[in-house]
Amino acid sequence: MAMTATEPATAARPFGPAVALSCRECGERYDLGPRFACEFCFGPLEVAYEFGAVSRDTIAAGPNNIWRYAPLLPVPANVASLPNMNPGLTPLVRADRLAAELGLRSLHVKDDSGNPTHSFKDRVVAIAVEAARTFGFTTLSCSSTGNLAGAVGAAAARAGFRSCVFIPAGLEEGKVVMAAVYGGRVVAIDGNYDDVNRFCSELIGDPAGEDWGFVNVNLRPYYGEGSKTLAYEIAEQLGWRLPEQIVIPIASGSQLTKIDKGFRELVALGLVEDRPYKVFGAQATGCSPVARAWEQGHDVIQPVKPDTIAKSLAIGNPADGPYVLDICRRTGGAVAHVDDAAVVDSIGLLARTEGIFAETAGGVTTGVLRKLIAEGALDPAAETVVLNTGDGLKTLNAVDAGVTATIRPSLDAFKDAGLL
Ligand SMILES: *Cc1c(COP(=O)(O)O)cnc(C)c1O
Repeated sequence: MAMTATEPATAARPFGPAVALSCRECGERYDLGPRFACEFCFGPLEVAYEFGAVSRDTIAAGPNNIWRYAPLLPVPANVASLPNMNPGLTPLVRADRLAAELGLRSLHVKDDSGNPTHSFKDRVVAIAVEAARTFGFTTLSCSSTGNLAGAVGAAAARAGFRSCVFIPAGLEEGKVVMAAVYGGRVVAIDGNYDDVNRFCSELIGDPAGEDWGFVNVNLRPYYGEGSKTLAYEIAEQLGWRLPEQIVIPIASGSQLTKIDKGFRELVALGLVEDRPYKVFGAQATGCSPVARAWEQGHDVIQPVKPDTIAKSLAIGNPADGPYVLDICRRTGGAVAHVDDAAVVDSIGLLARTEGIFAETAGGVTTGVLRKLIAEGALDPAAETVVLNTGDGLKTLNAVDAGVTATIRPSLDAFKDAGLL
C-alpha cells in the first residue's frame, strides 16, 4: 500500500526519524512495514528519513555503542533501554606498522571483531530485532554465510524471540557452534548460500513463515541501516572527518552501500566537511562476481558458484552488486579480488604488524589493500581505512599457526631447543 507524504507518523515513533520505505529503483514510497521489494518494479526498498537536529555533542554524550546514533537510525528514542546486544563503538586502530610495511602515509583498521558475537553482523541484527519486535514477529531467522547466524541467535536469546537460522552445510566449526550455543535452531541446507537464500524466500511466501522475521529478507531495509553505524563511527573516531579512501568487503554488498549512505548523511547534516572519498570493494577470487563485472565494465552481475576459504563473503549472486558498482564508480574507487593464498598471507600480516587476528574476510580486505597499493590504484598519501569485519577465532583452519616447540619443563631443554 503506497502512502502519501502527509500521512502522520505514529505517536510512539517506533522507527524514530524514519518516515517511509522508498524504492531504490523507482522512488515509490511505502509505509514502514515488513516489506522489502517494490510492488511496481521489484526494486529493493530502503529506509527514508526526516532527520531532526543532530549535533556532534549530543552524539558524543550518548551511549558507548551504536545507540549514540539512534537519531539517525530507524529505532525508537528509548532503544538503549531495550534488551538488545548493544554492539558498536569498536576500535579504529591506528595502524602505523602496517602502514609502514605497505608504504602508506596514514592507515587505520576499523576492527569489528570485538562486537558481541565477534563480527560486524551484530550491528545489522541490532536494528532488525527492534523492527521484528515492532511488527510482532515471534521467530527470528536469517539465511546466513555464518556470522549472521550467530548474531541472530544471540540477539533472539536476549530479546526473547524463538530463533531458527539457515546456513549452508560445511561451514567452519566456530561459526556453527557460535550459532547454536544460544539455544535456537540451526538448520544446515545441503547447498551454497544462494540455495539457502532461495529456500528462505520460499518459506517467507508460505503461511508457515507468517510469524517469521528474516533479518536479511523481509526485515532487510531495517537490517541494512545497521551498517551505516560503521560510517558514523569511522568519521567520529577520525575526529569528525571522512577518510579519503576506504576498503570494504563485499558479500551481498549491503554493507558497502550503507557505509556510503552513512557518509553522505553526515555531510548532508553538516556533521563532517564535504570532502571526496573513494570506496574500494574487496572480494575473494573464488567468489568475485562484483569484481569481475568491474573488470569487464559490465553493469550486470553474472552469478558464480563460490569456492573460497572466505566463506563469510561467499555469496555468488549478490543482491546489492549493481549498487556497489555505482558507488565505486561515482567515488573514483574500484572493486578488486585476491586469491585464498593472499587472504591467508594477509591475515598473517595484519596479525604480525598490528596484533589483530582477522577472520578470512579481514584477510580479503587487507589483501585487496596491498594489491591496490601495488597496482597504484590506491593513493599511498591519502588517509585510508580498511575494515576487519570478523574474528580469526571463527576461521582457525584458514591459518597455519601453532607452537614454536614442545619441550620438557627444564631450562636446559629450552636452551637446547635453540630458542633463546
Ligand atoms: C556478512 C559479512 C560481510 C559483508 O556482508 P554484506 O552482505 O556485503 O553486507 C563482511 N564481513 C563479514 C565477516 C561478514 O560476515
